[in-house]
Amino acid sequence: MNTLPDNLLAINNKIREIALECERDPSTIELIAVSKTKPVNQITEAINAGQLSFGENYVQEGVEKIHYFKQTLPETPLVWHFIGPLQSNKTKLVAENFDWMHTIDRLKIAQRLSDQRPANMPNLNVLIQVNISQETSKSGIAPDQVAELVKQVITLPNLSLRGLMAIPEIENDYDKQLIIFKQMQQLLLSLQIDYPFMKTLSMGMTGDMQAAIAAGSTMVRIGTAIFGSRQYL
Ligand SMILES: *Cc1c(COP(=O)(O)O)cnc(C)c1O
Repeated sequence: MNTLPDNLLAINNKIREIALECERDPSTIELIAVSKTKPVNQITEAINAGQLSFGENYVQEGVEKIHYFKQTLPETPLVWHFIGPLQSNKTKLVAENFDWMHTIDRLKIAQRLSDQRPANMPNLNVLIQVNISQETSKSGIAPDQVAELVKQVITLPNLSLRGLMAIPEIENDYDKQLIIFKQMQQLLLSLQIDYPFMKTLSMGMTGDMQAAIAAGSTMVRIGTAIFGSRQYL
């Protein structure tokens, strides 16, 4: 059986290989290890193998882990990404604890995060989540409404808008995955004309990482291939 460090090494090698195949610089693609539902001892194993960026979907669980590692590894520069759906009554916990927030889909959430970001912390890095598979997915904002939200989010003082994020509908066919991810790439390119600081494209999971990287992803969010499959209680 592969160990967690083996899995991490394999994923990093794979990212590198895919990047080179599409003539991209591998260092422009960041691996976010999605540790939702996984215990702190497994995260520690990943940290010991060199992984520093982690993604969490559930606010309470994520905050507990962030506090745990602040206590146990105060010198390790971990970066925590909130990647789950967020209700407005939970924004404060994200604002006070996370470094990145990937799932902004309306102004109200962004406003609350900016208001609640503590003054002694750097700006919260945020991404706008796009509902790119529009018929099936409920989360994210419609592509034709993204530009308007961008205009509003960039006025918020304690947020730094870095780009876009998407979770397309599950699709096994590579060519179909690629078509959807390329729509995200086009959308980001069109925004970059007015907002050149928007450089991040958070897309690609265990099952569709290759197509995501081919379409310009700069952050892949990988859980299963690193930590194994998840059991939900
Ligand atoms: C769970 C999750 C992932 C990781 O998915 P895997 O298929 O396990 O790699 C990535 N992004 C989001 C938003 C998730 O919820």
